[in-house]
Amino acid sequence: MRVLSVASEIQPLVKTGGLADVVGALPLALAGEGVATRTLVPGYPEVLAKIGATEKLHHYDDLLGQPATLVSAHAHGLDLIVLDSPAFFAREGGPYDDRAGNGWPDNWRRFAALSRAGADIAAGLIDGWSPDLVHAHDWQAAMTLAYMRFGAAHAVPKVMTIHNLAFQGWFDAGIFNALGLPAGAFSVDGVEYYGGVGFLKAGLISADAITTVSPSYAMEIQSQAEGMGLEGLLSGRADRLHGILNGIDTQEWNPADDRLLAATYSSDNIAGRVANRKRIEESFGLDPDDSPLFIVISRLTWQKGMDLLADVIDHLVARGAKLAVLGSGDRALEARFLAAGERNKGRVAVRIGYDEPLSHLMQGGGDAILIPSRFEPCGLTQLYGLRYGCVPVVARVGGLADTLIDANEAALAAGVATGIQFAPPNAESLLSAIDRAVVLHADPSLWKSMQRAGMAADFSWSKSAARYAALYRSLAK
Ligand code: ADP
Repeated sequence: MRVLSVASEIQPLVKTGGLADVVGALPLALAGEGVATRTLVPGYPEVLAKIGATEKLHHYDDLLGQPATLVSAHAHGLDLIVLDSPAFFAREGGPYDDRAGNGWPDNWRRFAALSRAGADIAAGLIDGWSPDLVHAHDWQAAMTLAYMRFGAAHAVPKVMTIHNLAFQGWFDAGIFNALGLPAGAFSVDGVEYYGGVGFLKAGLISADAITTVSPSYAMEIQSQAEGMGLEGLLSGRADRLHGILNGIDTQEWNPADDRLLAATYSSDNIAGRVANRKRIEESFGLDPDDSPLFIVISRLTWQKGMDLLADVIDHLVARGAKLAVLGSGDRALEARFLAAGERNKGRVAVRIGYDEPLSHLMQGGGDAILIPSRFEPCGLTQLYGLRYGCVPVVARVGGLADTLIDANEAALAAGVATGIQFAPPNAESLLSAIDRAVVLHADPSLWKSMQRAGMAADFSWSKSAARYAALYRSLAK
């Protein structure tokens, strides 16, 4: 089976979040299910620099106003189609923002162009290859499905995946004419959304199946509280909405063979964690002692509940625990964390930035990872934490609810607890979860049994890939 996947980022070529991890990992896992995926991505400078030799597939003199070339490439085991259009993508900054963090004003046009190319490929633009199904990821790729539905490829099955409903790609109605869709597409049943054009909405309403990245999130987004305006559409299409958990790359994230650790270890013998912990304490300037070491690896944002954590940091310190924070995001939150570090020298330390190697070391030596998200479609850091024996302490939402077993009395007695969950997501219940963690940590045999149970959990991609493949087959038959 041939699948065209369309996305705005893909690991290891370009990444701003979990979306890239999924888009990069799924094709490799699906290969084992007899699904051959080609992924269409924008030709950002970092992508073009990493893909090596390319072969020209098609040239557009005018793709939504700019010249563009589709090229094929193979890199890191991925079969890629790259939309090379310097006018759209050869820019300094990130995939969506300039260096100052402001969204590019023509983002609608850049990602409509990507989507238009995706729909053209679905309709047979490329000699000798056309997909049996098209899978679009998030708002940046969502218009692919609308272009297909209102164009030549309407009969090709369409899957839309929501990685984070908070990002919807809403634009002023004035852009509609430039999209090149038939006039009738600007309707409630088409791309119109709250008086403008909604890219994600257009993809959701055009899709034959909708997926999101955990079963709990699939339920939550049908409610008014979590649906972010799309709850009506999503609950109306509930029979087509599937929650499929993300997996993790178990080779890149393997404590038994991770060169980014000071010491490797396995679940039979986790003694190596002590050396990793020491390295973290040195690197962050934290007191070298046996008190529980909490870590954070996160975007520092409201979604991630980082303001809740900032509220309780001094209490965490008062309980005798330590905290190492790695992240970046809202400037005001960064400042609050830095100030907490100044107030609590040796007990709280903060590294502002993105540091993949350090994140491995922190999972390999931290005692518990704090994830107080207000909503979390799937979440990856709790999965890495489980695999590394860094016990997740999480808000009971979305994928965080689905991927770990709370250390209640029954689960502890049965030896199946893998983490600590709290609800609702507020500072008070976060603090009581931290208290529970401190108490459990003081009982080494209990704590070790939680670490072991977490390390034994299977979050490899194979299970999820089988579910995607089954969904594809049900649509393409
Ligand atoms: P989201 O995609 O919403 O940011 P996820 O938990 O799904 O959250 O994925 C975040 C990914 O980014 C994980 O792989 C995590 O380890 C990584 N990450 C987040 N912040 C940092 C950071 N400051 N340094 C290194 N890695 C980070």
